[in-house]
Amino acid sequence: MITEYRKYIDPSKVYIPLTDLDHKMANVKVEIGDRVLIGDMVAEKFIGKIKSPVLSTVSGKVLEFKDMIDRYGKIVDHIIIENDRLYEKKQFKTYKPNRAKENKEDTISIGIAPAEVRNVINELGLRTVSVDGMFTELVFNSSTKYVVVNAIFINEPFISTDYEFLIEHSNEIADGVDLISRAGNSEKTIILVDKFMPEDALEELGKAIVERDIEVVTIDSKKVDARDYKVIKKLVKEQLSINLLDNGVVYTTVSAAKMVHDAVRLGIPAVTRKIAITGDALKINAVYEVRIGTRFIDLVEDLGGYNEIKNMNLHIGSFLTGIQLDNDDFAITQSVDSINVAEYRGVDEDVCIKCGDCNDICPAGILPQNIMDAELRNVNYRIVDLFTHECVECGLCTYVCPSKINVLEWVRRAKRRVG
Ligand code: SF4
Ligand code: SF4
Repeated sequence: MITEYRKYIDPSKVYIPLTDLDHKMANVKVEIGDRVLIGDMVAEKFIGKIKSPVLSTVSGKVLEFKDMIDRYGKIVDHIIIENDRLYEKKQFKTYKPNRAKENKEDTISIGIAPAEVRNVINELGLRTVSVDGMFTELVFNSSTKYVVVNAIFINEPFISTDYEFLIEHSNEIADGVDLISRAGNSEKTIILVDKFMPEDALEELGKAIVERDIEVVTIDSKKVDARDYKVIKKLVKEQLSINLLDNGVVYTTVSAAKMVHDAVRLGIPAVTRKIAITGDALKINAVYEVRIGTRFIDLVEDLGGYNEIKNMNLHIGSFLTGIQLDNDDFAITQSVDSINVAEYRGVDEDVCIKCGDCNDICPAGILPQNIMDAELRNVNYRIVDLFTHECVECGLCTYVCPSKINVLEWVRRAKRRVG
């Protein structure tokens, strides 16, 4: 339960991983003792075949390079920068919208070419702004056709969006969505809102998108059955892949849209982000605006520390698709949107009662119970016949299982078995 809204944007040091799970380090651009500004490139990493910058999020001195656990639990090289608290920024070019009507449909002109938006997103460190689950990075290619922006979740299904953020920043969000849409030459751009969204938030968003080629689609987020996934599936009219970019879909959040607006219009690189920190292990639960590179243990201290508990369970990202870590000394990155720390309560699995709930809920339309059965019996051809590769690892089968079986894990094993 969120009890507070806080800021933690003034850490004494930042710890920035030079690479992560999916990306390879290309080269390091600074040495120990160098002074850097906010937005200075400290390293480059490969995202696919493209080099993308790793940026400093403070101004200050490079103290050291150190192997540390990252938010995926992997040991990677981090750069540690001492914050001189002057917050001096590298100057980036800014682009103003052109309010003159662009065409006869009266669409507001964004005042910047699509290729230039893609450059800004890359150069100002926004490509990797994403969250766990189906959400994609801000990566565009010639097959990009759709942009879907979620205005609902910080982390489904337990933590809902900070609606004040929507109300306060609706114009910037609408502009950011427009910019992402143009960057991807999107044929259709959708903002997903919740059926239970307060009227004032919906009204502000509605006003902000007038004259923009953006459609608002309402879904019932209280029903945990991947409604967003179903909207996207209807849109692309094909089986969805585990990475929606392969279906030509950029799926992102309103928070990322605001960051794109700030980057293009104000020249502000990705230096802070919003995250929800929750769980009964913590004295206080809060939504934070936090400087990227802040250590999680510093946030815990800011929240008054942990409650006295026996076994801690730390979970980063969505409960359905995020990851568990056994270490709380990691740094916040662009891809962290929520962290839950709770007391570990061992759950005893029961036997499968063949209720079929997991099969009924699967948004990919496959049969997780049957796949689990085939995996238990080592029947490879059956695993293939059941289209196991189409599992998008949403975790809903595990979520609904009355016997508390980790069905997703069985499906993952089956996938690995048949390659
Ligand atoms: S098998 Fe489970 S994890 Fe995979 S798509 Fe279906 S419900 Fe989601
Ligand atoms: S939901 Fe659980 S108990 Fe029901 S069929 Fe699936 S695995 Fe078996």
